[in-house]
Amino acid sequence: MTNTVMSTYNRLPVSFSHGKGVWLVDEQDKRYLDAISGIGVNALGHAHPELTRRIQDQAGQLLHTSNLYGVKNQQALADQLCALSGMDNAFFCNSGAEGNEAAIKLARLYGHKRDIDRPTVVVMEGAFHGRTLATLTASGSRKVQAGFEPLVNGFTRAPFGDISALENIAKNNSDVCAILLEPIQGEGGINVLPDGFLEQLRALCDKHQWLLMLDEVQTGNGRTGKFFAYQHSTVMPDVVVTAKGLGGGMPIGACLARGEAAELFKPGNHGTTFGGNPLACAAGLAVVDALQNDKLIENAQQRGQQLVDGLNQRLGNVKGVITVRGKGLMVGIELAAACGELVQQALDAGLLINVTSEKVVRLLPPLVINQDEVQQLIDTLCPLIENWAAQRDAA
Ligand SMILES: *Cc1c(COP(=O)(O)O)cnc(C)c1O
Repeated sequence: MTNTVMSTYNRLPVSFSHGKGVWLVDEQDKRYLDAISGIGVNALGHAHPELTRRIQDQAGQLLHTSNLYGVKNQQALADQLCALSGMDNAFFCNSGAEGNEAAIKLARLYGHKRDIDRPTVVVMEGAFHGRTLATLTASGSRKVQAGFEPLVNGFTRAPFGDISALENIAKNNSDVCAILLEPIQGEGGINVLPDGFLEQLRALCDKHQWLLMLDEVQTGNGRTGKFFAYQHSTVMPDVVVTAKGLGGGMPIGACLARGEAAELFKPGNHGTTFGGNPLACAAGLAVVDALQNDKLIENAQQRGQQLVDGLNQRLGNVKGVITVRGKGLMVGIELAAACGELVQQALDAGLLINVTSEKVVRLLPPLVINQDEVQQLIDTLCPLIENWAAQRDAA
């Protein structure tokens, strides 16, 4: 039989029937601890009662009316996100890539306003910004780009976390009008910016009138132990993009902007049929409320610390384990060699994990994970990594 779904993914041989909290149940009734949350999406875990109720209520009222009209939930979610981020306004879309597209379009409008004919956005090595043509061009991975040339013009690349490389670009390229980066690279392998980097970058952006645009698609919505990851610093960006966790599983993305960047889009410059519809925004509002009411951002911080401490304790002296790093519940374990086989081994052991950048075990559990569940995660994962390391050592 031919597969009628295009083969864009190598799928694991499992599918799930339902879930509750951090647990998923497959069609054979086997339980799995979900430590990847559908790639950082299920921030409230599975079947969160209040999220479910608010989606159900909204579905019974109104699904969609389009952006030709006022959308009350969209306005309410924009108010919340602006209050939480310090940004001035929001554009809603349906995915992370679309949010970044909006940011890139803002950067180009901003460049033209400054009389730059070929506005250029600085992007990072190891970045991931999505799969549309502009966002795959912005991504710093040949795997994402290969076969899709010609790529989009108007990007220039720099090493991640290297301020002097950026100073050089500023000196030599007067077409630059903005920089787009992830505060912690997700797909790139949980790469954390050096302390103080965002402050230095803010100063550089101010000096050269660049927009500082942060891709918080993965790091946003409480994931790292602050609502947005830049809030670990004192810096205010000009543009913030988020998606993944924002809808708790409903597709929604947002591009937030402040100051001059918030004034650039005028009617006709940008749009979306589905973006910001009443249902998606009801989910977004439920997530934002639950993050605050259930103290889930604090939980991400505390459980993240427990996770990193526990992993370091068990794996710190294991040969073949390079580092454990991350912030909050965005954690990577870098191993000395490709370790994709761990995903299937974890699946067999009832644990859902992911490996990114070939050598980094990535953990993005739901923000509702409790102390016992973090311990179970550590107790299930560590023997697999110890075994992986022992086999590699013996070979
Ligand atoms: C997942 C991700 C994207 C792309 O989001 P989609 O919703 O898949 O388009 C963009 N940027 C970052 C940092 C991501 O993690």
